[in-house]
Amino acid sequence: MSIDPIADVALRASTTVAEETGVLHCDACNEPIEGEPAGSGLYVWTRGDEVRYEEPPLCMCCATAIGVTALAAWSVEEEEG
Ligand SMILES: [Zn+2]
Repeated sequence: MSIDPIADVALRASTTVAEETGVLHCDACNEPIEGEPAGSGLYVWTRGDEVRYEEPPLCMCCATAIGVTALAAWSVEEEEG
């Protein structure tokens, strides 16, 4: 029982779509990820006193590529350090 049947249907429809698709897309290449994401990137940035973390889902390919890139960046920093 709903006061507004149209709003009720709209709410139910959006919920159903989210539940039925439930497909994650790679944050880097936008490919759909089947099952669990292979890995997740970790974005960390600061804005004043605020520290924010984001872990976007990544497919196997991008998780590997980004992981290698991050390792390479870190090793360069250490060498320069
Ligand atoms: Zn990807």
